Amino acid sequence: MFQRRCDMKLLCETRVVERPTQTVQSARASKATLVLGYKHSEGGDKELELVHFTPSNKAGMKYKLAGNIETIRTRFVNEGKATISLQVPAYDILIQSDVLTLKSFLQTLRIGLEGGDINLQETVHATPIPAKMQPIERMVISKPSEYPKEGFPETLRFLEIINNGLKTVPITICVLTNLSSLDLRQNSINTLPNALGELQLRALNLSNNEIGENCNWNWLLGSIRKSLINLDLSMNVIKNFPYYLVKLERLVSLRLNDNLMERVPFSIRRLQNLRSLQLNANRLKALPSCVEQMCLQSLDIAGNYFSDRQQITIEYPTEVPPLWVLAGRVILRNQIQYDEPGKLPTVIVDLIKELPICYCGKLIWNAKIYECSGLAYLRAISFLVSNASREYLTDNVICGRRCFGISILNRS
Ligand SMILES: [Zn+2]
Repeated sequence: MFQRRCDMKLLCETRVVERPTQTVQSARASKATLVLGYKHSEGGDKELELVHFTPSNKAGMKYKLAGNIETIRTRFVNEGKATISLQVPAYDILIQSDVLTLKSFLQTLRIGLEGGDINLQETVHATPIPAKMQPIERMVISKPSEYPKEGFPETLRFLEIINNGLKTVPITICVLTNLSSLDLRQNSINTLPNALGELQLRALNLSNNEIGENCNWNWLLGSIRKSLINLDLSMNVIKNFPYYLVKLERLVSLRLNDNLMERVPFSIRRLQNLRSLQLNANRLKALPSCVEQMCLQSLDIAGNYFSDRQQITIEYPTEVPPLWVLAGRVILRNQIQYDEPGKLPTVIVDLIKELPICYCGKLIWNAKIYECSGLAYLRAISFLVSNASREYLTDNVICGRRCFGISILNRS
């Protein structure tokens, strides 16, 4: 006996246009499921309705169908397109789908509207968008057997691979262009590929790995430089502050605690968006004097090797700096805007942002750094964790005799 095939569910892409104003509800077509079914009224009648599930409306939007259809346009049904226009609300639902399934769905709809028996379920039992159509955005892998056999889904935005014995960042991760947050803590990573820098991550956690002197930091110069906001490099074996870190100008939070660093460079002042810096449990003897010119709100420097202030013998610079540096000094002195892209050569902008700077604001080139010679009071930092008072030893630079006279090096 011939049995009619009834498609009551249509996996498709839809756009909804509000007819009176011709407003499109979303800029792009979104994945959707359209479901036909019956709603049973209290009086025992059943009423045909259409439920429209989208990723942004997983509960589904219900529309009455009987007596409520303005038109059903099927002119382009052979291209997999159709439009259902409702009277109330005055919406046009533009549908794109597989041709055969769409035809079958429209056929079912027509029979239903004509009152034919199409053996539909109640819409309350209708399933919304199947799981495979919902983009996978978050994945946590806590043992190697949980690795996805077909590779990571492109739609991933948050990925955690913790305690998996990773030695580096797998290249299969470095191609996930939608990834925003990557957590690789508690592995054995000791080297980082340049391709990692091509991700546009906002948060990267590399804490508790084996990152140290063998690590190449060129990845910090990729597009990640413009996106990274939170970086956690704590509990590694970093001896030298990775120079390219200062290029991450959007960075707000930087954790470098529990490493082996002895110095922080003057160029850290380039991180003008940095608000939270954790340097605790390192081997620091002093902070660069420019730390007071940063906009830090939270600083942790407990558990370092701060000791006694050094007495110094001043050696005034005699060498004439290169023209780039002189140009940088003029730009700073005259308060010329230098931060607009393309306005000045990058080399000058980098020097202005990264060179050590004297108390008078003059850029210092190739001059002696007086280690542990001054004091910082860190008054502007609202949340300071330290082992001692608010006075901290600083490394300093001095442009000349006059500045030595007014500098904090001269304070007793
Ligand atoms: Zn000076």
